[in-house]
Amino acid sequence: MEAFDGERAYEHLRNLTVELGHRLAGSDEEKEAASYIKSEFDKNGLKTVFQNFPVMVYQPRTSKLEVLEPKLGEIGCELVGLSSSTQPEGILGELAFVETGDVQYLQGNLTGKILLTIGPVRFEKYANLMKMKPVGIVVIEPQIGKPPSRVDILPEWRERFGTVPMMRIALEDGVKLVKEGAKVMRMAVHFNEKKSLSANVIGELKGDRIPEEIVLIGAHYDSSPGVQGASDNAGGTAVMLELSRLFAANGSARTIRFVAWGAEELFLRGSQYYSQKLKEKDELQKKKQANESVNVTELRNHRLCINLDVHGGILGKNEAIVLGPQDLISSVRLLSNEVGPAIELTEEVHSSDSTALSRVGIPSLSFTRKGGTAEYLHTPRDNIEYLDAHHLAMYGAFIGLWVKRYVADSLSFPFERSIPESQQKKIEDYFKKRLGPNLRNC
Ligand SMILES: [Zn+2]
Repeated sequence: MEAFDGERAYEHLRNLTVELGHRLAGSDEEKEAASYIKSEFDKNGLKTVFQNFPVMVYQPRTSKLEVLEPKLGEIGCELVGLSSSTQPEGILGELAFVETGDVQYLQGNLTGKILLTIGPVRFEKYANLMKMKPVGIVVIEPQIGKPPSRVDILPEWRERFGTVPMMRIALEDGVKLVKEGAKVMRMAVHFNEKKSLSANVIGELKGDRIPEEIVLIGAHYDSSPGVQGASDNAGGTAVMLELSRLFAANGSARTIRFVAWGAEELFLRGSQYYSQKLKEKDELQKKKQANESVNVTELRNHRLCINLDVHGGILGKNEAIVLGPQDLISSVRLLSNEVGPAIELTEEVHSSDSTALSRVGIPSLSFTRKGGTAEYLHTPRDNIEYLDAHHLAMYGAFIGLWVKRYVADSLSFPFERSIPESQQKKIEDYFKKRLGPNLRNC
């Protein structure tokens, strides 16, 4: 097989970042990125389809935070998408620092105040904060040295608990506010929102010997608003596109579906949609053939999901996250020892598309290059200057070799289609933490 070409991958990266800029889910730029990916799949001769699904999209306009008492002036901030906008003059409120936002800190009268808390904010914490009836929430970035992230809350939270204007500030500014005893502040937030469509772009390479067995190689191509999202995840998309070229030329025993997932940043919307559709079809088929044993459905033919999220950083550390059988972990460890690079293996659930696929029973293997400047993810600093062709190829070539050995060339698929119970529980916990106990995904 031809070698992984870092320069080609870098060209994809450049087209997705410098040429397009941001790729916010549901935006025109995300659509342009989808057509770019489709045209690359088409060039490689893959059978390409779009899978559309609805998303709630927001467009940040203005965000301003000012401390009036004591007079600390303006503080750098980013609005939290899908919270709520204020009038142009903003809202005025007394500030209450509630530490991590755990119930132990939510004592006394907090009604009508602006709550200041250190991130992250998940479902339960959001519910607890909103019970206090605040007029605003300011979230301190949990990581040192990082500009405030451009993120959003889930529409599901809003429907359930309502919302108030929310913002994020840098950790260093959070310290300043607490230390100086910031008392009164003004928050002005404005963003537009509308219902829109995002899409998964699927390019299929039919297997030439065992076409019914399907392996996914996916990477999300959307980004946070107004940021290049270079390492997260134009980098992973670039690696995926280069792999699609190599395997389209090389051929594969089993079917490989290359997928560019849409709307990952809005909580894995594309991969959840894809997984849910598979599951619905599976259940329907089971119902129809209640008396016969149904072993073969499209869902069950999915043997593995390979996920590429955060790639290409000049400085960073290669990691692989496995939700599945021990053999899968061993295979990565052995190949990494044999040919390099070094890869740290973990079996913890992480927040990316593979978790949605594993939730419906498909084992997953996520390759990611974390640390270094990838820590800037979801901020305007996650741009192309911190990535290069060499580091796209370093991990890309390894992934290519792994796929060739175990997916494209392997006579019998080497990995059991199973996920240990302890991991299944962790996956459910992950979704519960974000969506709450009684909500379905999507
Ligand atoms: Zn990502």
